[in-house]
Amino acid sequence: MDFLKPRYTPMNRRRRIYEGKAKVLYEGPEPGTLIQHFKDDATAFNAQKHEIIDGKGVLNNRISEYIFQNLNDIGVPTHFLRRLNMREQLIREVEIIPLEVVVRNVAAGSLATRLGLEEGTQLPRSIIEFYYKNDALNDPMVSEEHITAFGWANPQEIDDIMALAIRVNDFLSGLFLGVGIRLVDFKIETGRLWEGDLMRIVVADEISPDSCRLWDIKSKDKLDKDRFRRDMGGLVEAYSEVARRLGILSETENPTANGPRLVQ
Ligand code: UDP
Repeated sequence: MDFLKPRYTPMNRRRRIYEGKAKVLYEGPEPGTLIQHFKDDATAFNAQKHEIIDGKGVLNNRISEYIFQNLNDIGVPTHFLRRLNMREQLIREVEIIPLEVVVRNVAAGSLATRLGLEEGTQLPRSIIEFYYKNDALNDPMVSEEHITAFGWANPQEIDDIMALAIRVNDFLSGLFLGVGIRLVDFKIETGRLWEGDLMRIVVADEISPDSCRLWDIKSKDKLDKDRFRRDMGGLVEAYSEVARRLGILSETENPTANGPRLVQ
């Protein structure tokens, strides 16, 4: 368990493995580990809209840590090992499957537009959709036929991914319902984790208000990235509210005074 011991390498000496829109991945302290760093960048519409929102990365790091740690604890495998500091977490290196897996409980966003449904319509059952992760193509929706034909995942892996997605949905729906929030939809990414000759699919990337639609049950207020996509303002306040309800931010702190102050 040596990789669980901290070994601090100054940021500028770490090897950068990958830089995405909201996160950077650095080489980890041990083989098979990476450091996932949460930036304050917010992007939407395939990065056509871009802003820096002070404090967003810190909040997403903590909210995602909380969700991934709970998933690990109930036996849903993830890449998450532990949080290192305000913006970084130690994760296992996985082979990312190039799919965005979206689970929907309520019509919103692109589903509402595509099928002409009113936002807020409860769906007859949870629906899983796959999108091919490709910025140049604007992440097109794909079917299992495309996924297997192009070799992005095989039928067994698709079954495993769908089973994981349903377990994450059940857990998250209950978690958020308990704090007065409706889980409308969310996106996960998955990866192949190799342990010797054995491979299993685990939940990867992040789960945060950047990747979920979260509506306050009473007021119907949006507590997620739609505040940025739809120019509503108040994004940090909304994410702070989610953190506070989950018990991550203390009740009395004003997260906007000096940037978010988080409970250790
Ligand atoms: N989502 C995401 N990343 C993406 C696209 C979607 O995290 O690149 C999330 C989004 O936050 C929402 C869900 O997946 O919770 C469904 O998004 P939708 O297909 O409605 O797309 P959008 O309206 O965001 O374009």
